[in-house]
Amino acid sequence: MTVVSVVACETYDPGAVRGALEAALAPLGGMGRFVRPGMRVLLKPNLIAPLPLDRAVTTHPTVVRAVAEMVREAGGEVWIGDSPAGPVGNPDSLWRRTGMAEVAAATGARLVPFDGVEWRRLRGQDYFIARPVFAADLIITLPKLKTHTLTLYTGAVKNLFGTIPGTRKREVHFRAPAVPDFSRALADVLELVRPGLAIMDGVVGQEGNGPGAGGTPRKYGCLAASADPVALDTVLSRAIGCRPGEVLHLAEAAARGLGVGDLEGIEVVGDRRALDFGPVRLPVVQRVLRVPLPGWVAAPLRRATRVRPRLTAPADCVGCGRCAEACPREAITPGRPPRFQLDLCVGCMCCAEICPQGVIAPDRGPLARLLGLR
Ligand code: SF4
Ligand code: SF4
Repeated sequence: MTVVSVVACETYDPGAVRGALEAALAPLGGMGRFVRPGMRVLLKPNLIAPLPLDRAVTTHPTVVRAVAEMVREAGGEVWIGDSPAGPVGNPDSLWRRTGMAEVAAATGARLVPFDGVEWRRLRGQDYFIARPVFAADLIITLPKLKTHTLTLYTGAVKNLFGTIPGTRKREVHFRAPAVPDFSRALADVLELVRPGLAIMDGVVGQEGNGPGAGGTPRKYGCLAASADPVALDTVLSRAIGCRPGEVLHLAEAAARGLGVGDLEGIEVVGDRRALDFGPVRLPVVQRVLRVPLPGWVAAPLRRATRVRPRLTAPADCVGCGRCAEACPREAITPGRPPRFQLDLCVGCMCCAEICPQGVIAPDRGPLARLLGLR
């Protein structure tokens, strides 16, 4: 049985996080099972946007620091890397504002910007992935427990999409606009990157229209770890209320044998009560895509019920233009507020993900509301 280890962790107090992390890794054999002396270990936190920590958008630095310390103690050399959604801009500002600069200073970790890429081709598709990913001996994916307006749930597997630097992510969204296609792309990235360990920051995550500033911070009070990122995500996505098979990239990854996507094949050890989250508000997503229908029904229904971006508070827009830069379809004209050309929009929600003000939300449209689609 694949093991997923879960422990309660109610705060980001450094001592509490370190203790919880040790307890979570113990059933897996401890950090020493994964890290041997001299290994170059890349920590891949979720640094999707340089937003204040209390928005619960990025992996908390206390968790990253505890992992970095344990890797160092096991004899590994620590690298920390990620690339946010949209243009890379100034990586120093990203490191500083997400707390990673402080983690590096305290632990001796090396901050590795994801700018240079290596080309890989898989299943007929090109991927440009950050060089440090292939230079490292071990990758540890460090996601944040959040909902996601495109994929419903974001976790250890979706976090790896950040190994595609900056605006190159747009190329994938452009060629795979629908959720099933994008989910296959996420499984491709997992197949190329293959992390050896996954550790979830579930102390405070998000519910609602995550994973950016539009999501609502939500205390979950747990840390979880597994050598199998698909199994880890399966357990946590079910705990927040996703139904079996509903997170399509997990279903695809499991079907390819990249991990276990069925609770029957997973042994949850540790404090199972830490997964009793109660009701969690899931995001507005493209529900109709998940219903199997003949093409002649599905296509027009999909068009009529497509989730689209909507400005919730135009007066709060600061006119930064990041939404327009992130849009793979060039469907946004920059401005304060920007204008959306919805006939070009494919509903990828990259604009909502990147908006620092959280003023773009998914809107399911009147027909979807009438049909009762979430
Ligand atoms: S407008 Fe937003 S949701 Fe539509 S394609 Fe552009 S980034 Fe995606
Ligand atoms: S909507 Fe958001 S991302 Fe777009 S310009 Fe306004 S503040 Fe920036």
